[in-house]
Amino acid sequence: MKQPFAKALHIIKQLKAHGHDAYFVGGAVRDFLLRRPIGDVDIATSALPEEVMRIFPKTIGVGVEHGTVMVLHEGTSYEVTTFRTEGKYEDYRRPQSVTFVRSLHEDLKRRDFTMNAIAMDEHGQMIDPFAGQEAIQMKIIRTVGDAKERFSEDALRMMRALRFVSQLGFYLSEETKEAIQELAPLLAHISVERITVEFEKLLQGAYSQEALSLLVETNLYKYMPGLCEKRAQLEQLAAHNWTLLTERAEYWGLFAYLLDVQQTLIPFLRLWKLPNQLIKDVQAILNILGEIKQNNDWTKEKLYRYGLTHALSAEKIRSLLSGEKIDINMAKLRQLFDSLPIKERKELAINGNDLMRWFNKRGGPWVAEMLTLVENAIISGEIENNDEQIKEWLAQCNRKLEENY
Ligand code: ATP
Ligand code: MG
Repeated sequence: MKQPFAKALHIIKQLKAHGHDAYFVGGAVRDFLLRRPIGDVDIATSALPEEVMRIFPKTIGVGVEHGTVMVLHEGTSYEVTTFRTEGKYEDYRRPQSVTFVRSLHEDLKRRDFTMNAIAMDEHGQMIDPFAGQEAIQMKIIRTVGDAKERFSEDALRMMRALRFVSQLGFYLSEETKEAIQELAPLLAHISVERITVEFEKLLQGAYSQEALSLLVETNLYKYMPGLCEKRAQLEQLAAHNWTLLTERAEYWGLFAYLLDVQQTLIPFLRLWKLPNQLIKDVQAILNILGEIKQNNDWTKEKLYRYGLTHALSAEKIRSLLSGEKIDINMAKLRQLFDSLPIKERKELAINGNDLMRWFNKRGGPWVAEMLTLVENAIISGEIENNDEQIKEWLAQCNRKLEENY
């Protein structure tokens, strides 16, 4: 058996040795069949959480009430979940209660899409009661059972369908698509945090253009944070090649830019419950984009002031929007950065204390102002970054000032 399953086989074998049933399930099996890179290996078992915790020496009861135990084995953690069905669904969200069952079939039946409802045993045999392998071959996303029923149980599955379109380049089955069109309003019952997780994956997928079009076509966008009135702008999103981006702040930056929400950027990003640092990064990138869009002359001063990371992100978005070659423009910017005599204030040969000593004056706003003057003189090449030259240059500036009075 291939990695990463070979390494996880130990867990299945241990469970079996203790008289339980156990299988590989979920995204790992799907991605294995698709020959895509395999993420986390999940295991489903007939053993109850307490039993799993007794069998393995290193476990964490991460979601015992839902049947999930994290098993640590040779430095990797595996989610081992008891076969379960889900209790009553209330409010179109995933259920609070689950019932543990002893049959794999029942467990596969509660899963969202047929491609995600395939189990693999310890010999690599597939257990596939809902023709998931055929769906994978035909690149079809199809719910297990009646689509409307399944989306009414948990409306997040509609977002998941679209994010799988984006990640896998699959198509929605006719029934699945129609059900989303009809039941899109149910998404309003889903917590923003869960929507954001799926939406970020959607933005980062290789086929995001298709998924973004579907978001509009199915009307799902209307029930997502702050998008209700943005149909026209959303239609533009699919025109750009999002796969050229790599950072979270870049995806959100381009998204906010194309939606034209710069005026209300912070409240907009807060609606999505994004972390503060990410919001700050997006804000910085869009500020730079605003400045360089008008005047695409990167100068050493600008690059020093913005810092390389944010500058590269802004340049990437700018190049993408203007259809220029991203790699070339990024390389140019890196070269310009390499040519900076200092990269950040820390590298200055002097600090505020030196200035206070030289001028025999107490600290105040003048210190930061003067440090900026010194930085600019160094960046522009007027002086070198050594304290003798800086001192001499400052004395000269002072003499000039005095002469002018
Ligand atoms: P990824 O590779 O992105 O992790 P995944 O298919 O593994 O994709 P997960 O969110 O990790 O997705 O879920 C693991 C499995 O749990 C899924 O493959 C599916 O069988 C099941 N599942 C997850 N979320 C739901 C849901 N909302 N409704 C029904 N089944 C779900
Ligand atoms: Mg997974």
